[in-house]
Amino acid sequence: MARYTGPVCRLCRREDVQLFLKGDRCFSQKCAYERRPYPAGQHGQGRKRRPSDYGQQLREKQKVKRMYGILERQFRGYYYRAARMKGVTGENLLSLLERRLDNVVLRCGFGGSHAEARQLARHGHFTINGKRIDIPSYLVKPGDVIEVRESSRGIQKIVDALSKVDRTSRPTWIELDKDNMRGKVTALPARSDIAADIDEQLIVELYSK
Ligand code: SF4
Repeated sequence: MARYTGPVCRLCRREDVQLFLKGDRCFSQKCAYERRPYPAGQHGQGRKRRPSDYGQQLREKQKVKRMYGILERQFRGYYYRAARMKGVTGENLLSLLERRLDNVVLRCGFGGSHAEARQLARHGHFTINGKRIDIPSYLVKPGDVIEVRESSRGIQKIVDALSKVDRTSRPTWIELDKDNMRGKVTALPARSDIAADIDEQLIVELYSK
C-alpha cells in the first residue's frame, strides 16, 4: 500500500496542529511547528480566512489520515467499514485506525514514530499470537499478544524506543510487558482512549454527502 514519503513537518504546519510524526524531535525545540506555526510556502503567512463547513470537514479528514499515515483510498475503505459496523460511525472509524498493527507497535513503544513503527512492522519484526505478521494494516483484536521476535530483540531502534516508553502515557487497552518486549490487547480501543484532538463527526459529515 502506498504511503506519503514527503516532509512530514510540513503536514503539521498545514493542519495547524502537532501531529507528532517525528518521534523525539516533536518534543524538542527543533519542532518545526513550534518554530513556524503557519503553513509552508509563499502564502503560508497570508491572511487567514474562516474556512467553510466543507473546508473544516476536509481539514479534519486530512489531519486524521496524516496522523495514521494513510492515503485516501485506504482511509475511505476504513470509513465504509466503520459505517457498516454497529455503533457510532466516527468512533468505529477511530477504533479501526487504532487497531492497525503499525499503530499498536507505536502505542506499545516498540517504535519511536509512526513511520518507524510502520517500517518495523513491514519488515516482520513482530509476531501476533506467535505468528509472524508483516502487514502494517493488520487489525488486532482483544486477546492478541504482540511480541518482538526473538531475532529482532537487539534492533537498536526498538531498544531505543522501549527505553523511552515510560516518558509517554500508555493506552489503557494495551498491557505492556516491557522486559519481555510483549504487549497484550485487553480490549477494543474506545473513543475515550484516543487522546488526540479529533472531531470525527466532521469526517462522517464529509463522507456521507
Ligand atoms: Fe510535527 Fe513533530 Fe515535525 Fe513538530 S517535529 S512539526 S510535531 S512532525
